[in-house]
Amino acid sequence: MSAKTILYVEDNEANRMIVRDLLKRTQYQLIEAHDGEAGVATALEKKPDLILMDIQLPKISGMEAMRRIRAEASMADTPIIAITSFALSGDEQKAKEAGATAYLAKPYSPFDLLKLVRQYAPDS
Ligand SMILES: [Mg+2]
Repeated sequence: MSAKTILYVEDNEANRMIVRDLLKRTQYQLIEAHDGEAGVATALEKKPDLILMDIQLPKISGMEAMRRIRAEASMADTPIIAITSFALSGDEQKAKEAGATAYLAKPYSPFDLLKLVRQYAPDS
């Protein structure tokens, strides 16, 4: 049994630290990317089991990154959880249209994040 791999695309170090700490006590293997372009490249290279995608990112947005990842046939079914600080109405719909499987608005509790991770990447 190999550990499931989670790619977290996030430009904010403090947020990355929180998720790193959260997943440290689980069997998930975490890989990180710091901007949208690197997120797409890492996703296509590593083929993670699940992607956590911040929306506000340098270079290209999380929305655009999701579109590019979804354009790759091998990544069509990979769960992507979009994470945004925007509580604007319509944002969830935009994220889903860009390819998000699920959506989590900041601020979120680590428990909520872990629950979604376990839901979409079970068995770890
Ligand atoms: Mg950000």
